[in-house]
Formats: sequence, C-alpha cells, structure tokens
Amino acid sequence: MTSNTKKVCAISYGCQMSARDAETLTAVALQNDYVRTNLPEEADLIIVNTCCVRESAENKIIGKIGQLKKLKEQKPSLIIAVAGCMVQQPGILEKLQKKAPHIDIWTGTFDYSKFEQLLKSSLNGQKVCMVSPEAYECNEVVPLAEKGKLSAFVNIMYGCENYCAYCIVPYVRGRERSRPKEVILEEIKQLVQAGCREVTLLGQNVNSYGLKDGFGYDFSDLLQEVDNLQGLVRVRFMTSHPKDLSDKLITTLAQGKHLCEHFHLPLQAGSNRILEAMNRKYTREYYLERVERILQDIPQARLTTDLIVGFPGETEEDFELTLDMVRRVPYTQAFTFMYSPRSGTAAATMSDQVPLDVKKLRLQKLMELQNARSLAWRKNMLGQEYEILVEGPSKSDPEQLTGRTRGNEIVVFKGTDDMVGKLITVKITSANSWTLFGELSSQ
Ligand code: SAH
Ligand code: SF4
Repeated sequence: MTSNTKKVCAISYGCQMSARDAETLTAVALQNDYVRTNLPEEADLIIVNTCCVRESAENKIIGKIGQLKKLKEQKPSLIIAVAGCMVQQPGILEKLQKKAPHIDIWTGTFDYSKFEQLLKSSLNGQKVCMVSPEAYECNEVVPLAEKGKLSAFVNIMYGCENYCAYCIVPYVRGRERSRPKEVILEEIKQLVQAGCREVTLLGQNVNSYGLKDGFGYDFSDLLQEVDNLQGLVRVRFMTSHPKDLSDKLITTLAQGKHLCEHFHLPLQAGSNRILEAMNRKYTREYYLERVERILQDIPQARLTTDLIVGFPGETEEDFELTLDMVRRVPYTQAFTFMYSPRSGTAAATMSDQVPLDVKKLRLQKLMELQNARSLAWRKNMLGQEYEILVEGPSKSDPEQLTGRTRGNEIVVFKGTDDMVGKLITVKITSANSWTLFGELSSQ
C-alpha cells in the first residue's frame, strides 16, 4: 500500500440504522479507492453520520463538526461529509451550513445513492449539498459487505409512520417501506460468502414488515427463510413495536434454529394515560400479556426495552407505574432517556412540559432500579453454561476474548484466537451489571 492511499473515517451517531447508513456511505468511498481508518487525523475523507432523536445527540454532533474545522485547516484537501437525520430535519440544514462553512458535502437520508456523485464533485473542488424532501423510488445503494465481518446489520425496511408523539424519526426517515425478501436474502447470502455469521435485521418496527407494501408474506415468513440460509449461525432483529407483536412471531422464534430469542420491546412508559398521549397504541395490560406469552412459549427468552421519563404531563403516579413495570418484566437491560422535545413533533407543543430537575431525578431512580435488576439477572446466570459466538479480543482486556450469548449478553473469557467466529460453550463465573465473565466449558 503506497503512502498516498486515501483514507476514509466514518463517525456515526445514533441507532443501528444510522450505523448501517454510515457503512453504506463508507462502502461507496471504499469503491472509490479509499481504505478505512478509525483515526480522523489521518483521514482524507471524514463522514459524520448524524442523529437527531434527542437534543443531547445533536449538541454532541455540533461540537464534533466544530472540532473538525481544525483538521480541515491543517489539511485543506480533507473532504468532510455530514449526512443523515439531523441534516434531514426541516430548518436545521441552513443553520448548520452557516455554522460550519468548512463542510464539503451535506446529504440527507434519502440521497445515499447519490453519494458517489457528490464525492466526485467534491474531489473536483465543489461544495455540494443534496437533501431530497422525501424518498424517491429506487433509492437503494447496492450494499457492500465488509469482507470478513462476522456480524452485520441488514435493513429490511426503511422509514416509519407510527408517529409516536415524541419522535422525530417519521419526519426524517420518511414513510414506511419494506424491501422485498429476494433483495434481503441475496444481500445476506453475499454477506455470508464474505465471512458473516450473524445478521441483525433492522427496521423501526420489524413487526409490520411487508404489510403496507402488500407483499403477501410477513416478518415471520421472512425470518423463517433467513433461518434456512446456509452458513448463518445467528439471526437477530430489532425493533419490535409491542402493538404489532404477533403470536406467529413468537411461535416462529420458538421453533427457529438460528433465531435468537431476544426481544427488544420498547415500553416507553408504564402509565396507560401517558402511553395514549404518546400514541403508542397499546396498554400496560396488553404489554404484560405479550410478555407472558413470550415467556410461556420461550422460557429462555431475553427481554430488553427503551423507557422515557418526563413525557409532557407525566405525574409522579405515572412515573411510579413505569417503575412498577420494570419490577414486573424481567428486563435484562433497559435504555433509559429523559424526554427531549423535538421541534415539529406533537409532544413538543404539549402543555405541562416536565421540568429538567424532575426528569433528572426520575431518570436516576429508574436507572438505579434497572441496574440492580440487571445485576441480579446476571448473578442468576452464574455457574450456568451458555453458547456464545466469539467476536474477538475484549476491548477492556485484549488478552481475553469476547462474545455474545443468544440473549445478546456480552461474555468475556480466556480463549484462543482460532475460536473467533465460532460458537463455543462457556460457563459463567462472575458478573457485573453490564458484563459476564466466563471460562471455557470442559466438554
Ligand atoms: N422505532 C423504535 C425506536 C426508535 S428511537 C421504537 O419504536 O421503539 C429509539 C428510542 O429513542 C425510542 O425507543 C425512545 O425510547 C427514544 N426516543 C425517541 N424520541 C425521543 C425523545 N424525543 N426524547 C427522548 N427519547 C426519545
Ligand atoms: Fe419513533 Fe414510534 Fe416510529 Fe419508533 S415507532 S421510530 S418511536 S415514531
């Protein structure tokens, strides 16, 4: 490799969809003779893929974009591209452009198929901006698998039209549209050929896959076909909207070979009044019934969730009902957020916004409860054996390896390099709230 090889560095914020988009953009750069680097300082192209789901993410990103100015001053040939949800948000682009004249490429969530063209214009010295207001037909970039990557995200659908009152996603990712199963299966086959062993099927609400597009097959049917593909050892999916979680899906998972028994089932809030105001379209009773059904059919299933505190109008009693749900449902992990008003969403203009100090206190209480429950859950796993897919050296201790159980729990253990990419059995020996530690099983 010569020293003048161009390098691309992707910096991604937000959800798995966003991470997958950053991969797509990176793949376009790789096709155009760039090689990957994790270090922005040595890059010739930096792609910042943005998120706007909460204000905290936006502030972080604005800070990062500001910092990159220095690198651009040091290396004027550096190209900086800013992409994704934040750019797509109505009214935000103009403000960002004013603040950051050092950015070369601005591109929204519907324009990834044009990224190669944008990159070429930029290499010719032009500043470019392409932000289409909505998805046009055929906006798919043929995805490129990173060779040898063990685990990959695969989009099965784009957009969302559930319009939960707090959420900006439908405004920046467009209407819900599913990809036909042939395209998905072909993409996965290519991934497997390149060394992939685990896929995570992504959608804002995978449980409504194919329904609006009238495909004649649903998410469970798709899962069964993915399960039958040769070479894959694990299949995951997210996110499951509780309102559309069918018995058929539970049965499909119970009977699957490689389908991991992990449901990420965002509850958001425990009070029916708040759930209604959020436009979630289920009640706490319905949610509990779904959980009961899952655990009845798949006793080893793992449940994780997302929770929001401080939605407009949330009283202390409402919040107590969220805590109550956390005590009732055996979540192994919960992602907890303070409600963040997003301009243009229904909740942003609701009266009774909850003060920040109240939100902070509630968040702290909720996290303490869930952390204690997560730890107790992990302690229960002590002494038991689990099959894990070995991913590689542990980040915290490179002398050890790390892998995940079917339930998506991380296990750190001592092993040998030849185990990477394989399924092995480990016995859990100790645990903290986030990680399990184990040793190789004797058989
Ligand atoms: N489609 C997924 C969620 C996508 S956003 C679903 O329906 O579950 C990921 C999470 O961010 C949400 O589940 C929610 O808990 C949180 N979130 C979204 N908008 C938010 C906001 N305005 N303030 C705080 N948290 C928010
Ligand atoms: Fe947002 Fe609701 Fe759609 Fe999830 S289902 S992306 S929370 S609007």
